[in-house]
Amino acid sequence: MELQGEKSFKTKTIANAALAIGKLPFDVATKSLEELAAVKVIGKSVAAKVREIVETGTMKELEALLAETPPGVVEIMSIKGLGPKKVLVIWKELGIENIGELFYACNENRLMEAKGFGLKTQEDIRKSIEFKMANSGRFLYAHVHGFAKGLLSGLREIAGTELISFTGAFRRKAEIVDGLDILIGAPVLEEVVSWIESSEDLQLVERKDDVLTAESGSGVKVYIRFCTAEAYFKELVLQTGSAEHLEELSSRVKEVPSVIASEEEYYRAAGLPFIEPELREGVFEFSLAEKNALPQLICYEDLKGTLHNHSTWSDGASSLEEMARFCRDEMKIEYLGICDHSKSAFYAKGLSEERVLAQHAEIDALNAKLSPFKIFKGIESDILFDGSLDYPVEILSQFDFIVASIHSVFKMSEEKATSRLIKAIENPYTTILGHPTGRLLLSRSGYPVDIPKVIDACAANGVVIEINANPLRLDIDWRWHQYAIEKGVMLSVNPDAHSVRGFNDIHYGIIAARKGGVAAENCLNALNLTEISAFFESRRAHENTHHTI
Ligand SMILES: [Zn+2]
Ligand SMILES: [Zn+2]
Repeated sequence: MELQGEKSFKTKTIANAALAIGKLPFDVATKSLEELAAVKVIGKSVAAKVREIVETGTMKELEALLAETPPGVVEIMSIKGLGPKKVLVIWKELGIENIGELFYACNENRLMEAKGFGLKTQEDIRKSIEFKMANSGRFLYAHVHGFAKGLLSGLREIAGTELISFTGAFRRKAEIVDGLDILIGAPVLEEVVSWIESSEDLQLVERKDDVLTAESGSGVKVYIRFCTAEAYFKELVLQTGSAEHLEELSSRVKEVPSVIASEEEYYRAAGLPFIEPELREGVFEFSLAEKNALPQLICYEDLKGTLHNHSTWSDGASSLEEMARFCRDEMKIEYLGICDHSKSAFYAKGLSEERVLAQHAEIDALNAKLSPFKIFKGIESDILFDGSLDYPVEILSQFDFIVASIHSVFKMSEEKATSRLIKAIENPYTTILGHPTGRLLLSRSGYPVDIPKVIDACAANGVVIEINANPLRLDIDWRWHQYAIEKGVMLSVNPDAHSVRGFNDIHYGIIAARKGGVAAENCLNALNLTEISAFFESRRAHENTHHTI
């Protein structure tokens, strides 16, 4: 009621009555309307509502309120510490309509500055959402990665062998995992049991044959399996691939020698080159392997720069100079593309036209100071509902490159979303399509998009597609990378960093790109400074031939 702006005395009456009813010495369902109306804390108007609930299981007024409130906002109300006033700010002022968006906003420090919030509230909300996610038993790869690394090194020490590895989805670096699988090629089950029992963060849940199941304090299930040293590499293959991968693999293997010294030998027995664990999903790896066309997968060191990042000019937490110096001095890369939010993103301090020009003056000054390091003038331009970009041509033409993304009005049919994206792709000023589906893993599915059509449009217009490296996004999904590559579309691994810390996300983007079979040559920001300058130059020539839009 408060969310929908009902008068406060009315809300209070209902809340007080609800509280009082819970304390009554009798069951309200057994009383008639008159009897209820006679009870002081209930009264006539509330008594009618109580009877309605008893008879129909709900209340028309409640249903009407719920119909006017997005279901995600109702779900947000269930978060500990969030009363209606705060939820109202989140919904109406920050434009957040579900838990996924709220989690994302916490991670981007967007809540901190909203009325009635502070760093502590933001942290509390972030934690309780993480807890809610963990309860579903599924985890983002990024959220278990640190724990997993520590666990494996502890186990390696106890097991006293190098024959130990992750297997399953975590070894395949799936974006979401529902637990950790570990294989140990040594008879050390008892030692591992006592190690788990003495551990503070792990609890032994089950012990069955040669499989131990444990659970971490944050709810991550860990499955530890044991085999002999001789069987280790064979088991490693069999416990790593997805069901689809293993089915295809077993149809190709005639006979595997009983003892093998590496996974390569197993694949050789199937007449195939070695297939990297990330690719063992049964999606496209066999068709490439049999043509001997498996790519040299991209790695972090291939990247020469980073595009699509934010600064304090919009909703970032680090200044432009801090961002640039971090790239130059810590990451040792050659360029930074800065893409603050455009003017429609009011909740993220999007840049007005005047502020765009002021930022460009700062970039020119920094470029003179930090040379040969270069900051490219970019913008993350909102794709408006009709598919147009957020500035007039005079401003659009001032940028070195433009990332075009959807940030508002997600409720669209597939047809509408696809045509909205394609209109933006056909805009001659668009360089990169940002987070193409708007999904937030584990919490928001994104708008429905005809992805092949969107990729085809990027191919026709020379537009690059982003692999947004934020571990909640990893958008465009790795399952589409090969299709993009086949069509000759470049991909760009973009951290979408909102602070210097945010650059770290680029590692998750690289993992996604590797799963998609991306090589350095398919990646825009693997181009060095000279090459990418030439690329942006050629796009500007493209703008000039299409400038009547
Ligand atoms: Zn964005
Ligand atoms: Zn962004």
